[in-house]
Amino acid sequence: MNESVLAWHQARLQEGKFFIQRCSACAHHVYFPRAFCPHCGGDALEWTTPAGTGTVYAATTVRRKPTEGGDLNVSLIDLDEGVRLMSRIDGIAADDVHIGLRVRAKVVDGLVLFAPADGGSA
Ligand SMILES: [Zn+2]
Repeated sequence: MNESVLAWHQARLQEGKFFIQRCSACAHHVYFPRAFCPHCGGDALEWTTPAGTGTVYAATTVRRKPTEGGDLNVSLIDLDEGVRLMSRIDGIAADDVHIGLRVRAKVVDGLVLFAPADGGSA
């Protein structure tokens, strides 16, 4: 069961589509995908399309040499649906990513990444 949930999710990401789950028993949203709701233990999880907007909860800059791609942002993002995920913020210098920054999700090469919600002038 769990493996098929993850496979379905990854297949949608490869198509450029971002889904999260919502528990129809307790109404909590769930991410990363799983077979059972972590809030109530129920198995009535339904796929839903998130709004895609969220807020940076924590941000870290991974220092890398320019020849290795330069500094890399790693952030925890709270989606407006109430789930938290680890990703990175593109379209903005790594050092400019800050807690509270509003961001928007995008799917790139099967990965959920984020960009500043206002387009990058934050
Ligand atoms: Zn639940």
